Amino acid sequence: MNDPNVGIPVREPAQVGLDDTILPFEVSALDLRGRIVRLGPAVDAILSRHDYPLPVAKLLGEAIVLAVMLGSALKFEGRFILQTQSDGPVRMLVVDFISPDKVRACARFDADRVAAAIAANEDEPGRLLGKGHLAMTIDQGPDMSRYQGLVPLDGNGLEHVAHEYFLRSEQIPTRVRLAVAEEFRGGENGARRRWRAGGILLQFLPKSAERARVADLDPGDAPPGSAPHVLPEDDAWVEGRSLVGTVDDLELIDPALSSERLAYRLFHERGVRVFRTAPIEAQCSCSREGVETMLRSFSQEDRDDMIENGRITVTCEFCSSTYVFAPNEVAPALS
Ligand SMILES: [Zn+2]
Repeated sequence: MNDPNVGIPVREPAQVGLDDTILPFEVSALDLRGRIVRLGPAVDAILSRHDYPLPVAKLLGEAIVLAVMLGSALKFEGRFILQTQSDGPVRMLVVDFISPDKVRACARFDADRVAAAIAANEDEPGRLLGKGHLAMTIDQGPDMSRYQGLVPLDGNGLEHVAHEYFLRSEQIPTRVRLAVAEEFRGGENGARRRWRAGGILLQFLPKSAERARVADLDPGDAPPGSAPHVLPEDDAWVEGRSLVGTVDDLELIDPALSSERLAYRLFHERGVRVFRTAPIEAQCSCSREGVETMLRSFSQEDRDDMIENGRITVTCEFCSSTYVFAPNEVAPALS
């Protein structure tokens, strides 16, 4: 008899945690797959550069973790864009993930409404977002069609929105936990705050089609008053989502707890297999050349409107880099 597990090394979980990494894992006994994201310098670089009000920074941090978790699962070169548009104090969040490992992000918000929400103690993520939608776009380049999934924002936070998205568009039972916090550290120049973030994603992906069935979401043309289609949840999934429900925020961001130890802590009774970790880096994709091309595509009138003190100045909303041009540098070439 062949033992299919021959050659898979069994070892203790790593003691030392690595920041800015994604750890994919699998619990085959329960048909579960997942990823643990741990962000240190990458999320700190993005959030401290922007200097947003605290709850806005936290919310954007959650969106970054979610986008990294989902974008890093794509098996091709391309871009994964997570974008919210809503009527709350935070009008828009954009996280742009470029495979395999680069992320950038920014938020647009109404400063007065955010300040009022903070003062009224109504600054939790769902309230800051308000109602609207979240779009997830997969862009594989100019020659490929873009794929976009939309999910409504209805006053809930991003974890809830992610569950809805996977249930509706992918029909995959999914649990997501996201955590963002500031760490205080003393240093030569006094205490400095650093942002940390982390998250775990767990999905139920059974090999047998029968176990993969999920209840119909839409009653369709069933007569009014029909009982909704309900299927009992699979025991394996109930066990998996209950375990993820026990994860607290500190476990997701604690630099002293490695992602491997967290996976082991949750699933060691069933046996958990981890795969190679992948790195993540905060890096913007803007360039002088790219801004120049964009300016050339504008009309002469629009470009004239942008001239101040004889120059056109463009600041990247993601990384705050500033590009300055003389108007004749970006005028279209005479044909
Ligand atoms: Zn930039």
